[in-house]
Amino acid sequence: MKIHNFGAGPCILPQEVFKKASESVLNLDNSGLSVLEISHRSNTFQSIFDRTKKMVLELMELSDVTHEVLFLQGGASSQFALVPMNFLKQKALYIDTGVWSAKAIVEARNFGQVEVLKNSSSEGYLKLPDLSHISSKDYDYVHYTSNNTIYGTQFEDVLKTDCPLVCDMSSDIFSKQIDFNLFDLIYAGAQKNIGSAGMTLVVIRKTFLDELVKSRTKPTMFNYQKHIEKGGLLNTPPVFSIYVAMLNLSWLKEQGGLSYFDSYNRQKSFLVYRELERNTLFEPKIHIGSRSSMNITFDLINQGLSTVFLEFSSRKGIHGIKGHRSLGGFRASLYNALTLESVEGLVKNLSEFEREHGN
Ligand code: PMP
Repeated sequence: MKIHNFGAGPCILPQEVFKKASESVLNLDNSGLSVLEISHRSNTFQSIFDRTKKMVLELMELSDVTHEVLFLQGGASSQFALVPMNFLKQKALYIDTGVWSAKAIVEARNFGQVEVLKNSSSEGYLKLPDLSHISSKDYDYVHYTSNNTIYGTQFEDVLKTDCPLVCDMSSDIFSKQIDFNLFDLIYAGAQKNIGSAGMTLVVIRKTFLDELVKSRTKPTMFNYQKHIEKGGLLNTPPVFSIYVAMLNLSWLKEQGGLSYFDSYNRQKSFLVYRELERNTLFEPKIHIGSRSSMNITFDLINQGLSTVFLEFSSRKGIHGIKGHRSLGGFRASLYNALTLESVEGLVKNLSEFEREHGN
């Protein structure tokens, strides 16, 4: 039986990537060596590293003249602390849209003053705040999370501000076409649309590096400047994750790049939301205007059927749709590698469940 993996991350990657990565574990490009045993100082790895960086910049339509690309460890969660440690001098604005941005706020408060903007209605994190009134105060930077993996909310447009813009793009990076040049620092854990877990992508505008807090003593590994000075190879990098990212980003480009995935992902999420609106047993958690095309959260109107639905889905090969433990309900993640065929499988599963359990 084909398994359709709707897991939120680590998540589905293309079969071609799994195949090539597994072959390379045994024999990297007929070198007789495993990708796991090559030195990170070898020419072979340097070319993998350079190619991965090039793919990132190409997909973002940015240049290495203006931007630095780092592949760090410690997950996106470490960036919650690294960003303020390196850039928060006095005051920053954080948009609080969920668990991940709240964690970033906790870390930032260790380094300076943090103003917080959030949706104040009763819907809480299930609705995005209105950001049209961000005043152009003198913030060191404004930080937001473009897609809220747990709740299934996503900002359609890039936030507008005159201050430097920092974004946690962990769960929607490379899923749609946006102007990456509007950001001063972007970070994202790799384990969704980039590749395998273990690596965090950080892209920094070079002119933003002039704003680094110089007066604060920072551990070497937490200092962006030190990583940059060593060409991103300050210590042993996450070699295998970088290799998988290279394979996956090359695949992404071959499929047609971000313009292709923009419409493909819209098409996929449209089908799921349409079914959730139609189906009498289910309802989407998020209203139009805040909905994510990457993570779709939904509920059964009769919550008593939850276990029955999960078992029913599992028998049909629908995997990974249990909602986040903090929120309950269900969540279907439609990352780039998840096919339209899998989405059609999910939609069919929802309607068959209605036929069996509806009135
Ligand atoms: N930010 C977002 C938006 C996430 O979805 C996640 C994890 N799924 C994180 C941050 C934390 O990432 P990590 O586990 O790599 O630290």
